[in-house]
Amino acid sequence: MLKVYTILCRAGKMDNYSYLLVNEKSGKSAVVDPSEAAPIIKKCDELGIKPDYIFNTHHHFDHTDANLEIKSLYGSKVVANINDAARIPGFDIGIHPGETFTLGDSTAEIIDVSAHTQGHILWYFPKDKIVFTGDTLFNLCIGGLFEGSIEEMYSALQKIKQLPDDIVFYPGHEYTLHSIPMALHLLPNSEKLLQYVQKARQNLARNLPVSPIPLGLEKECNPYLAANSPEEFQELF
Ligand SMILES: [Zn+2]
Repeated sequence: MLKVYTILCRAGKMDNYSYLLVNEKSGKSAVVDPSEAAPIIKKCDELGIKPDYIFNTHHHFDHTDANLEIKSLYGSKVVANINDAARIPGFDIGIHPGETFTLGDSTAEIIDVSAHTQGHILWYFPKDKIVFTGDTLFNLCIGGLFEGSIEEMYSALQKIKQLPDDIVFYPGHEYTLHSIPMALHLLPNSEKLLQYVQKARQNLARNLPVSPIPLGLEKECNPYLAANSPEEFQELF
């Protein structure tokens, strides 16, 4: 199984999340979206881990800025969408959306969700029931449209909605607090959302991340996932 360590980076500024993944059987490991070197190195050293790989979801600097430092320190190989080869620092291994990539006995399916950026991918580990959503899906919100259209984001989110309810998702930022008012405004009668918000506030008060959240719950509580037609989705912008 895959063990996931959540590492807050750029704390109090952009509140990015990087993740350290360890396949427990093989000891193979990877860092998802190295945002800031210091907190990642601290966690790796604490655990005695030298990440074999760096997995990027997209090219934005706050997800790739520590690629080169982590790579030179640990010899990690940078794995990313082949279509983003020119924009990912330290790029080593290109994968096409639709392909898989293995980490020990864990396998990731690579899903194209171009919208926040062109070439943004999800790292979905079906057997481990985990998906890393980068800047496409946040708790109760979604990422901005830097390089894509509303239609592209709608179709990207439909791909996420097709994933099973019983997996959990890990987003690229901690933006929950800012997203709560709009979610409550749009889904005022959702008992599940009220419970979600209560739990989120408790976690944040203790400086804990809100994720992982079951994707099934997110589908009901996130207004962007709850939208059932392109027209309904369009109205959220
Ligand atoms: Zn981004």
